This record gives sequence, structure tokens and C-alpha cells, in this order.
Amino acid sequence: MRSADIQISTFENAMKQFDDAAKLLHLDKGLLEVVKRPRRSIILGLPVTMDDGSLRIFEGYRVQHSIIRGPAKGGIRYHPDTNLDEVQALAAWMTFKCAVVGIPFGGAKGGVKCDPSKMSKNELERLTRRYTAELMDVIGPDRDIPAPDVNTDQQVMAWVMDTYSMHMRTTETAVVTGKPVIMGGSLGRREATGRGVLYCVRGMANHLGLSMEGLDIVVQGFGNVGSVAADLLAKDGCKVIAVGDVNGALYKKDGINIPALLAHTAKNRTIVGFKGAVPLDLDELLTTKCDVLVPAALENVITAKNAKHIKAKFIAEGANGPSVPEADKILAKRGIYVIPDILCNAGGVTVSYFEWVQNRIGLYWDEEEVNRRLEQIMNRSFGEVLAVALEYKTTLRVAAFMLAIRRVADVIQLRGLYA
Ligand code: NAD
Repeated sequence: MRSADIQISTFENAMKQFDDAAKLLHLDKGLLEVVKRPRRSIILGLPVTMDDGSLRIFEGYRVQHSIIRGPAKGGIRYHPDTNLDEVQALAAWMTFKCAVVGIPFGGAKGGVKCDPSKMSKNELERLTRRYTAELMDVIGPDRDIPAPDVNTDQQVMAWVMDTYSMHMRTTETAVVTGKPVIMGGSLGRREATGRGVLYCVRGMANHLGLSMEGLDIVVQGFGNVGSVAADLLAKDGCKVIAVGDVNGALYKKDGINIPALLAHTAKNRTIVGFKGAVPLDLDELLTTKCDVLVPAALENVITAKNAKHIKAKFIAEGANGPSVPEADKILAKRGIYVIPDILCNAGGVTVSYFEWVQNRIGLYWDEEEVNRRLEQIMNRSFGEVLAVALEYKTTLRVAAFMLAIRRVADVIQLRGLYA
């Protein structure tokens, strides 16, 4: 499923998405190349002492795709299958995501090839500190600001912040976002990506004349993004009829009790074994009949093979890169709308931006203020993307890329090229 397994280049897919939109823009070819290509890709060998005294080298990456609209911004992923190709794609999507929602950042991403489920907390801490130390000249509040992604959390961000601060001889909270709230994190950050998904689903339902009440939802992934999206959608009146995680899937026609499933998952670290729904074959999850499908796990899961069997009215991409370009074409032909990742999951980076702002002004907002500002940005961005899609009679993904490319290209032209 992942790029490494089935020879899909996630970066090539991201570039195909770029090209589909770029050809409608009639911009200078050279200028488009500057917008498109990653600025800097770093591969690291990270030596770590394991708990048994042995020494292991982990491969790490940091890609800064763009610093044109502001400092680079993007999460750090710990996963055995992560690789430079994937991190480059994720970094590019960050550039376009920040441009779509109009926040003043470029795009970056980081990753370490490791399996955190097989590592102790101490090993993860040593790995994180070494990764951060190796990137001292690259990251920083005005250069490149990491955040959590798959398998990294608030604790990992706290270690990054501490390592950076120790090297700089000053407390530097703004070097990472997604920190614990007691050390400069923002209220509402943990829920922000899922909350952004909610606002996009509301926007799309409204556009299609559907009521949120009783909309059937299927969610793939029950981590940070998927679980919060499921919870907020259920609280908004939707019925979450099926959910899956890496270990299995669940189905309940009348809607799964999400707070009960959250409690089960907090205890068991998986949705499997939950008694309030029946088990569903994980392979059937994405093609379960529903109104809204929310892929919120990993990339390349909606393929040419399963796209023709998807039975949703629209797809809200909580994950980054869940649909490959061939699938997009099939879905568009079948009239299934896709709210693209660079819009739909942008709530996370938007509140990360708020966290960075709060760290820098030293004044902290209450959760209502954070959510109010997030809703405003998500609704405005959804409206802008929809307007371009309607004007050019194209998909929401092409429209979102068109908006983003234009915004980055405009800044390049204003700044000019240095040397
Ligand atoms: P997470 O590690 O918290 O959760 C990932 C979930 O996906 C887990 O429930 C896991 O079991 C599930 N999963 C993994 N493989 C699966 C499979 N084969 N089938 C079904 N489920 C599977 O990660 P997250 O932070 O929720 O991120 C999920 C996606 O959202 C990623 O693509 C990430 O890049 C993207 N994203 C995250 C944020 C954020 O703020 N966390 C922001 C924007 C985008």
C-alpha cells in the first residue's frame, strides 16, 4: 500500500497533481519549475545507543521544499517505510497547503526510518535528540519549524524543543509546534486537523444541498486526525458507520458510539475488540457505501483499482496524499467530489501557525479564539477553492493547486531571484 511496497512514487504523484493545475495557469515554464522543485533535501545517518548497549544507525530526512512565502514548515514522521521520495512529496504538499490557506510559511517535512512500536521511550528520545542536533543549522523559528506527523506526538516535540534550546542557550518555544500546552503549545492544536476536516465537510455538504444530520461517514485511520474528525462529525449530527485502523475495521449501520470507541482505543491502543460494532474486513472499508469517506491514515490508499468501487458522495482527505492521480480521474468521471488534502487537512498547520504566533508574541489565546480563527480561515479557503473550481469547471484538487501555485509564483516574482 505504501510507496515502497507497490512502486508508486509519491513525489511523482504530487508532481502530477502540480502539472495538472499548472497547465491551466499559463505561467512561465522556468517560474513554474522554481515553484515545483524542492529547495533542499537532507539525508542523515543517525547513530543511536539502544537500551541493550548496541549501536544502530537510523536514516533520517529533512526536506525544505520552499521558503518563498515564509519559513519552511512541516511535520516529522517516524515510520519503517518512510523514504526520501515520500518526504519530498509531503514537503511539497506543505508548501501548497500553506499557500491555499494563506498562512505565511513555506513547506518542509522530516522523517526517520524506524519502527517506534519496537523502540523504548528512551531510545526514541535519543533518536529525536540526535535528529534535532544534526539539523541545528537548518531548523529554527525563522528558518524551518517542525511539528508532529505519523507516530510523533507532543512528547517528541518537547524533546526537539529542549534539544534546540540547549544548543541555542535560550528557551526557544517557537522552534516546533504541536508542543504540550503547558510548555507553549496552543489550545485546540491536537484537534485542529480533524476540526478542519469537519469545516470542509460542512462546506461541501452545504454546496451539495445535503444536511449534516444523518450523513453516513466512513473513516480510515483512528489516530490524531481520524479519531477527532469522527468525534466532531458525530457531534455535528453525522453517523459514523465504519472506522478502520491498522489492525482492523468496525461497522455499525446506526452509527458507532465514538466517545465509547475513543475510550476503548485509549485503553487498548486499537479499535479492534470494541464490542459496540461488528468487525469489518479492512479491505472493504474504503468501498463501504456512505455519504462521506474520510481517509485519515496514510498515502496511496485510493488507487485505480478501488476508485471504481467507492460508493461515497464525496471524499474528505484527512490524510496527506491518500488518492493517486489515476484514482482522481476515475472519481471525477464518476461524479465523486474530493476535498483535497492540501485544503481538507490544513487545519493542523493553521493552528500550528497560531501556536508559533502565540509563542512569539508571548500571549496565549483561549480555545474559543483559536477555533474561531480556524473556522474563519477554513471557510474562507474552502470558498476560494470552490470558486476557482466552478470558474474553471475543474476538480477541487486542481483548483486548490491553481490557487496555491499562483500565490507562490506571485511572491517569487515580487521578491525576484537572488544571485
Ligand atoms: P496517527 O499516527 O495519529 O494515526 C494514523 C492512523 O492510521 C492510526 O489509527 C493507524 O492505525 C491508522 N493506519 C495506519 N495504517 C493503516 C491501514 N493500512 N489501514 C487503516 N488504518 C491505518 O497519524 P495522524 O497524525 O492522524 O496522521 C494521519 C494522516 O493525516 C497522515 O497522512 C498525516 O500526514 C496526515 N496529517 C496529519 C496532521 C496532524 O495534525 N496530525 C495534519 C495534516 C495531515
